[in-house]
Amino acid sequence: MAGKKIAVVGGGFGGVAAARTARAMLGLEHDVLLIDRNKRTYLCGSFPLLIIGEREASKVSRSLGSLAKRGVRHVQTEVEAIDTDARTVRSSEGTLDYDFLVLAPGAAYDWDAVPGASEAYSFYDLASARRLRRKLATFRKGRVLIAISSVPYKCPPAPFEAAMTLEWDFQRRGVRSDIDMHVFTPEPMPLAVAGPDAGARLTRDMERRGIQVHTGAGVTEVATDGRQAAFSDGQSLDADLVITIPTHRAPELMEEAGLLGPSGWVHVTPETLEADRPGIYAIGDVNNVPMANGRGLPKAGVFASSEGETVGHNIAAAILGEEPRRFSGVGHCFVAYGGTKGGMIRGEFLAGGKPNVTFQPPSARGYRAKERFERDWRRFRV
Ligand SMILES: Cc1cc2nc3c(=O)[nH]c(=O)nc-3n(C[C@H](O)[C@H](O)[C@H](O)COP(=O)(O)OP(=O)(O)OC[C@H]3O[C@@H](n4cnc5c(N)ncnc54)[C@H](O)[C@@H]3O)c2cc1C
Repeated sequence: MAGKKIAVVGGGFGGVAAARTARAMLGLEHDVLLIDRNKRTYLCGSFPLLIIGEREASKVSRSLGSLAKRGVRHVQTEVEAIDTDARTVRSSEGTLDYDFLVLAPGAAYDWDAVPGASEAYSFYDLASARRLRRKLATFRKGRVLIAISSVPYKCPPAPFEAAMTLEWDFQRRGVRSDIDMHVFTPEPMPLAVAGPDAGARLTRDMERRGIQVHTGAGVTEVATDGRQAAFSDGQSLDADLVITIPTHRAPELMEEAGLLGPSGWVHVTPETLEADRPGIYAIGDVNNVPMANGRGLPKAGVFASSEGETVGHNIAAAILGEEPRRFSGVGHCFVAYGGTKGGMIRGEFLAGGKPNVTFQPPSARGYRAKERFERDWRRFRV
C-alpha cells in the first residue's frame, strides 16, 4: 500500500491524541506529522494553581519533540495558510501536501474585544498567568473581580475554580478578611452547561466562602488602569485587582481557509468531526459540536482529546479498510476547590433531549484524581 501523509495542525490536547492514535494503528510507511509553533505545550488546567505558586511551569508542560519516541514527527513552525483545494499546508518552513488533515489549532484570544482588558490581569495563557502570579505574591488587601467577557470560553468551571483557589490561598496567608471577592458571568448561573442543580450547588459553595457571584453580567469594559470594570447588566465596580477571561474566537487561519460555519467556529459532523471538505477533520476548541440544548459542547481538553482519538482512529481505519468509530461526547472535567479538594462534572454531553450531566461534590479523593491526571498528562499517558 502506498504510504499516506497525515498532517496534524496543533500539538495541544486534540492534536497529540489524533497523531498518537493514528500512529499506533499504522505501519511506518505512513507519515504522521504534528505541526506546532511551540516546542512545549502547557496544561492550562493547572494555571489556577500556578498563579498561587502551587505549580511551576516546567512541571505543567510537555515536550512535543519527545513524541518522536512514539513515531510522531514534530515540526516546530507557524502554519500560515491552508489550501483545501490544493491539499497543502503552507508554513514558515515551506509547503507540504497531505492526504488527511487534522485541524487542532485551538481557540484564539481577542484581548481587544473588551476595551481596557489588556490593563487588567488574566490566567488564560502562560504569560498572563505568570504576570498574575507576580501580582498576587504581594497582594494582601482590597477587592478582587474575576470577570468573564462572553461565552463560549475554555473550561466552563475554570473562573470559579480560580476564585476558590485564590480564596483558599488568601485564607492560608491570613489575609482573607481584608479581601472582598466577586465573580461575574454573562450566563444565568455558574456552570450552566451542567444544569441548574450544579449551578445552584456551585453558587452556594462560593457564597459560603464569601465569594459573591453575579450572573447575567459579562464584563464589557475595564477602565482606570485596570482598577474599574463595567458589566453588561449596567453595574460598574472599582477594584484593586481585575482578572478577566478573554473573548475567544476561531484563529484567523481557519477563516482565511473558508472553514468557519455560522457559529463562528469550524463546522463539523458531530459523529465523525469531519469538516465540510473531504479528508479534513477539525477537533477540540476550534470546532462547534452542538449539544441537544443548542449550545456547543464545552471547550475542554477532555473533549479535544477524545475527539482526537476518534479522528486518529478513523483516519487509520480509512487507510486500513476498517470500521470507523463515532464520537460519543462522554466525558468529565475536574473542578478544583482550592488546593486540597476537587469536584467533577461528568456525563453524556451529546445525549438526546438534553445533556445528561451530573456534578460530583468536592472531596480530597477528587483532588488526588486531578493530581494523577496532571502526572499522566506530562508523560503522554492521556
Ligand atoms: C485556565 C484554563 C483551565 C482549563 N482547565 C481545564 C480542565 O481542568 N479540564 C479540561 O478538560 N480542560 C481545561 N481547559 C481547556 C483546555 O486547555 C482546552 O480545551 C484544550 O487545551 C483544547 O485543546 P486543543 O487541542 O483544541 O487546543 P490547544 O490545547 O489550545 O492547542 C492548540 C495548539 O495549536 C498550536 N497552534 C495554533 N495555531 C497554530 C499555527 N498557526 N501554527 C502552528 N501551531 C499553531 C498552538 O501552539 C497550540 O499548541 C482549561 C483551559 C484554561 C485556559
